[in-house]
Amino acid sequence: MAKKKGSEAVNELEAVDLISLLSMPENADSYEVELSVPDQDIDLIALGKEELALAKSSASVSKTTPTTPTTPTTLTTQTKIVAKPQQTQTKTVNILTPIQGFENDSFDQIRKDISLCQLCGLCKTRKNVVPGVGNEHAKLVLIGEAPGADEDIQGIPFVGKAGKHLDKIIAAAGFKKEDLYICNILKCRPPNNRDPNLAEMKVCTPYLQRQLALIKPKLIGCLGNISAHYVISPSIPGITRIRGQWFDSIFGIPAFAMYHPSYLIRSESREKGSPNWQMWQDIRALKAKYDSL
Ligand code: URA
Repeated sequence: MAKKKGSEAVNELEAVDLISLLSMPENADSYEVELSVPDQDIDLIALGKEELALAKSSASVSKTTPTTPTTPTTLTTQTKIVAKPQQTQTKTVNILTPIQGFENDSFDQIRKDISLCQLCGLCKTRKNVVPGVGNEHAKLVLIGEAPGADEDIQGIPFVGKAGKHLDKIIAAAGFKKEDLYICNILKCRPPNNRDPNLAEMKVCTPYLQRQLALIKPKLIGCLGNISAHYVISPSIPGITRIRGQWFDSIFGIPAFAMYHPSYLIRSESREKGSPNWQMWQDIRALKAKYDSL
């Protein structure tokens, strides 16, 4: 099969996505809708499709009574939909204490330690360990949950179907893959691609901590619900509510919540409001933040 050049793959994704972006306000992140309606008519459906999609994905709704309504007979209530600010949230997060005893650490040493690791049962079923790949001085580290079958065979994260989709997304946003570091919370594949469990993630975390201690990234991108809930906090809402937002993380590094590429490949749609369309907004927001550093 003929291999597509990077630029072709990028154009393919952009072409589909840009069409649906044409009618979008330039800065969707701060898109704000203010409505003044009679009290009894307050109904999100009346806001129209665009506003409803925004409300569903990331907006908060607040209802206030204006102190000086201009037409007091009909306008008794103001409904305001405000997209949440795209900045690091000030949630209280328990930051992990730095692990001691690795002052002379190296990526070779981490790989060696992972390949000898028997801290959980996954060592019995793995074909290969999957420590991580990319730039050891990356400003941005993307963190998924755990290797799948293809990754287990190759020992490299995100090389399967989901990984190929991720490659397209990051290239379309203007990232060079070789500038990033990509890894997972777990370094071994859970059998049958089941979700990682908390005990496995906990025992594997020191490897990720050591990787981050060497890389010293400025930003983390959490790929998917499991990664976001572990790296940010188990108490945050689900990924569909928090994607596209910044949070503090357990590693003390600002973390951005994004969909997992395997979720995105289940949906063909690139229409406005679809998961792939949302990811396109998010990856560009991440790139903008990355470029500002
Ligand atoms: N899914 C992940 O979370 N990580 C991979 O490396 C591959 C698929």
